[in-house]
Amino acid sequence: MLVYSIPMRNRFRGITVREGVLVEGAHGWGEFCAFLDYSDAECPPWWGTAVEAAERGWPEPVRDSVPVNCTVPVVSPERAHAIVAASGCSTAKVKVADPGAPLSDDLERVAAVRDALGPRGAVRVDANAAWDVDTAVRAIRELDKAARGLEYVEQPCPSLDDLAAVRRRVDVRIAADESIRRAEDPLKVAVAGAADVAVIKVAPLGGVRRALEVAEACGLPCVVSSAVETSVGMAAGLALAGALPELDFACGLGTLPLLAGDVASASLVPVGGALPVPRRAPVPDRFAEFAADEATTRKWLDRVARVRGL
Ligand SMILES: [Mg+2]
Repeated sequence: MLVYSIPMRNRFRGITVREGVLVEGAHGWGEFCAFLDYSDAECPPWWGTAVEAAERGWPEPVRDSVPVNCTVPVVSPERAHAIVAASGCSTAKVKVADPGAPLSDDLERVAAVRDALGPRGAVRVDANAAWDVDTAVRAIRELDKAARGLEYVEQPCPSLDDLAAVRRRVDVRIAADESIRRAEDPLKVAVAGAADVAVIKVAPLGGVRRALEVAEACGLPCVVSSAVETSVGMAAGLALAGALPELDFACGLGTLPLLAGDVASASLVPVGGALPVPRRAPVPDRFAEFAADEATTRKWLDRVARVRGL
């Protein structure tokens, strides 16, 4: 097992360094990188995802390439335009509803993104559960105008009831992200009529096979997103996106550029707005550049030992 530590280019999810464990098995490499605010009890699916990749491999894909979106953080309209233009992606996900920032900032950023994409591109926004129902309804209507058509709004409100209420009042699709962290969640989202799209991540669901079952059971179109893994873990997300029977939307797997480097020289950084579906994870041949110090290594190996003992 190898423990890595890679600086983030920007603070993300409150962290500035991404850490995790790379594990080699009979089939190849897997990655365990549950965020440190996850308790041990929440980690077994994350560990199972690593073990599936290392020991067993993934189901046969039905496509060999996956379209991905670029991500536009809370930046100026000029910067947003530049990020989208440089990305090569035809779908952009724009972060909105930053605490303290006025809606007018979001409207200008979204308009700049539409300008950079052209009329055929897709603009989606992510509010990370920041709004109440009335605020969401007002904001979504205005953002939809500024974007000249939104593809969907990700997690406008925290609760399923509120998502369902917003969904009844706007014409824009609603996607559930934070509402989906455990295998039973997508079903609840579908039953509650809370979303049109499910954002699913391999690692918290316990692997590609389990995530495929979850996707099928919930019956919603799925967008596969990453947990900001290195290329080793990202390969599992691509395997899921590659194996889903239907893939109607670009996936959130273009997150390697959020890290200041990668453990594999065969890095899964998107080219032309797409990523290939790999048959196994790339070999972490650049691990030595990102090897964690002794204390971090001990912390992660202890965590793995506890999780395996559960
Ligand atoms: Mg999200």
